[in-house]
Amino acid sequence: MCGIVGYIGKEKCLEKIINGLESLEYRGYDSAGIAYKVKNHIRILKKEGRITNLKNDLDLQQDSFIGIGHTRWATHGRPCQLNSHPHQVGAITLVHNGIIENYEELKKELQYEPISETDSEVLAAYINQMYQESQDILSVLSTLEKKIIGSYALGILVEGEDKIYAIRKDSPLIIGRSEDGNFIASDVPAILQFTKKYQLLLNHEYAVLEKDHVIIFQDGKEVEREVLTFVGEKEATMKNGFAHFMLKEIYEQPKVIYDTVQCYIKDDYMNQMAFLDEFDAIDIVGCGSAYHAGLVGASLLKKYGDIPVQVAVASEYRYTKQFYQKNHLLIVISQSGETADTLAVLRNAKEQGIHTLTIVNVVGSSIAREADQVFYIKAGVEVAVATTKAYTCQLALLSLFACYLGIKRGILKEDVLSLYDDLGSQIETILKEDALIKDVAQFIQNKNDIFYLGRQVDYALCMEASLKLKEVSYLHSEAYAAGELKHGTISLIEEGTPVISLLTDEELFLKTLSNVKEVVSRGAFSVIITNQEIMDKTLYQKMIQLPKTLDLTGGILVMVVCQLLAYYVALYKECDIDKPRNLAKSVTVE
Ligand code: GLU
Repeated sequence: MCGIVGYIGKEKCLEKIINGLESLEYRGYDSAGIAYKVKNHIRILKKEGRITNLKNDLDLQQDSFIGIGHTRWATHGRPCQLNSHPHQVGAITLVHNGIIENYEELKKELQYEPISETDSEVLAAYINQMYQESQDILSVLSTLEKKIIGSYALGILVEGEDKIYAIRKDSPLIIGRSEDGNFIASDVPAILQFTKKYQLLLNHEYAVLEKDHVIIFQDGKEVEREVLTFVGEKEATMKNGFAHFMLKEIYEQPKVIYDTVQCYIKDDYMNQMAFLDEFDAIDIVGCGSAYHAGLVGASLLKKYGDIPVQVAVASEYRYTKQFYQKNHLLIVISQSGETADTLAVLRNAKEQGIHTLTIVNVVGSSIAREADQVFYIKAGVEVAVATTKAYTCQLALLSLFACYLGIKRGILKEDVLSLYDDLGSQIETILKEDALIKDVAQFIQNKNDIFYLGRQVDYALCMEASLKLKEVSYLHSEAYAAGELKHGTISLIEEGTPVISLLTDEELFLKTLSNVKEVVSRGAFSVIITNQEIMDKTLYQKMIQLPKTLDLTGGILVMVVCQLLAYYVALYKECDIDKPRNLAKSVTVE
């Protein structure tokens, strides 16, 4: 979590760093700070809250040509000015992304009393202590990993030096390159205003940046690293007239899902998917929405692929004993490709010789680089903290896996792929005809508890729909397997309690409908989202009718409705939609 940006060059640095931090604000936004050099003196400014607070107190046109900035997502210590970064101890000033797990032990070795509650200040003090002994920061960086347990991406200024040092272990960091100077950043969007050229800093590497050159070190030795060019436009990270990134990204879905699907069905789909034949069992692992996508994928893979599939959240899976079969495939799903727990699962599985495949959005991310096999979704840059388009692209790709196995097993015909041709226009229709969704949003915005009900794929979709609502509107909501409600929680249903039922599974339609009857009898305000026909009007107050399609693509349509619903509730409640409280986009801590 958190965003780091640094610049050293011929041009003034403050505006660049602030601008970079603003495009990384989705990564963390409880406080922000900057350290910059003016005439050989390092000045530090930190502010609680958003980057604007920092910006307002900063003269961006000062003659400063080196600086490092940070937007924080607190892990150790409250979000407040004192705990915010940069932290300065002696000759060392640093910004940190990650968690230092052994900071209590390190603290005991210090001849310094930290003033903040953070693990990062302890690290600054520890590095300073090592530096005071050796007076050689590069040798300190080369041995850091032996002493520090945890994850870190660091931007470091050393007193008296016109350089930025950078190091990373299990937290992301890239190096931006331009004619006029060089950057460090947690993610590529931070530098796109200034340059499209960047180099990857790989895990366990460190680097030194000067205004006209960069040296990257691996195991103490200099390494050459290719300079990459970001493909795409900076506009991808702008709102383009939409009130919020979330809405813009919801609206981008017809295109990005099309791009994702085309990428795999355009050229020899059956051959591209043939690797699936080698496996007898699949585990799918992710966190948050990626986990929910996995649940939908698992349902489809089991139904059409006739293959055992297990799904788990990464933070549990990694500590669970696994009983891998001989031909076992592990699929890890992550939008950012930096999700710490998911990355740990991937690494554990690789150590055990399991074939790993990732479904990931960010090109060149840690998970993308380390997995044996990579399937990129083509969602493009996703800025809103609550995922929308990346999730539906994940669903689309997983459904393509299921389709392939279905075709191979004779359960589906190859022309099933034409389903995806209609998907774009079906989503467009939902986006255009959103009046009913707004009506429902108006009704539920003042409620305290919402229930989502569904069975099988619909239940997996309920989980994501419920999460979306919680994330952006702060309404409490629960996803329930429709048959399970009466085993306890139906006691919470009273006059007017909103219950949103997803009914797209034709086979289980009548079963779920009985559960709808149960809640309606107890006074629920019933909203049904379905692609089936429901004659009995007493079963709902509002019904959102979707086009009939197979469950391979039906879930995507349902989710577009649920995303819009969450968006409008958050809008009416005047929530901070793109940056919900306490959340961060890319969860690079465990
Ligand atoms: N662990 C550090 C802190 O709590 C860094 C958090 C971050 O990555 O923003 O300050």
